[in-house]
Amino acid sequence: MEASKILIATDTLKFYYCTKREYLRPVKIFRTVQTFEQYLSAERNSGHTIAFVPTMGALHEGHISLIRIGLEHATCVVCSIFVNPTQFNQPEDLKQYPRTPDEDIALLFRAGCHALFMPEAEEIYPGGRKFQPEVELNGADKVMEGHFRPGHFDGMLMVVYRLLEITNPDFLVMGQKDFQQYSLVGMMISQLRLNARLIIGPTRREPDGLAMSSRNRRLEASFRKKAPIIYQALQYARARLGQLPVRKIESEASAMIDQEGFRTEYFQIVDGQTLLPLESADQASHVVACVACWAGEVRLIDNLSLKP
Ligand code: AMP
Repeated sequence: MEASKILIATDTLKFYYCTKREYLRPVKIFRTVQTFEQYLSAERNSGHTIAFVPTMGALHEGHISLIRIGLEHATCVVCSIFVNPTQFNQPEDLKQYPRTPDEDIALLFRAGCHALFMPEAEEIYPGGRKFQPEVELNGADKVMEGHFRPGHFDGMLMVVYRLLEITNPDFLVMGQKDFQQYSLVGMMISQLRLNARLIIGPTRREPDGLAMSSRNRRLEASFRKKAPIIYQALQYARARLGQLPVRKIESEASAMIDQEGFRTEYFQIVDGQTLLPLESADQASHVVACVACWAGEVRLIDNLSLKP
């Protein structure tokens, strides 16, 4: 062991080797709503502002970049890891979802995250209690992910609402990577007048352009090698916007991805405010291209702002 490394214990008695700098502030881990709420109210009473980064774990640099954004805005940054069963429309996908809690805790610890909430489903949905926040989404939840993953956004909004209820953060930090997800959460926050200010972090990519994702670790080597085509197709759409009809750009970009052996579920150019499909680029001031495709058994999504 290097001289600068120290073995430390967190409050749940997990032990980590870490540097002296890290030793100064170990991440606190909470598994129950009650202890987590007690911690948050003590932090608030001591004058701290709270940034919250909800995740499903199997953390990577994309998640950690959100922790760093949280640290720029608030004096206390909390993360949750909860693989939310209500947002999986396929039981096999839920079963296969990667879980790497020890690595996750170490990453959060190194990033300077203050606390981690890792509840069981019973804590989030006591007695199996399910509820649906009443939000008018005007069809924004029925297109793209909502169309191909029925029920996904009901489950997602349910868990985000519940996590916000527990955490009541000053800032909620989410990633551009899940464009439709954060757009719907933004609608919920403004309609229900929730306290949290939504901050969006840019999509972090691998050097070859593939958007970082927990699911990437399940990619077969051949798909991993060809996966940069997804980002290339999005860039192609950006280059062609205003030159070709939107439908043609969509079909050409889909074909580019499919030619590499992926199966594109949708490649859609949408209004960045309403999330509804566009007929032409000048119909909206914010235009986003969104894609979902299958790489064998693994489903990948990505998006790119085409305008502005
Ligand atoms: P997940 O664990 O996949 O549910 O994601 C948790 C949060 O991390 C969501 O707000 C995602 O949008 C965000 N996120 C996931 N991948 C990335 C990435 N590559 N870059 C930035 N944020 C990301």
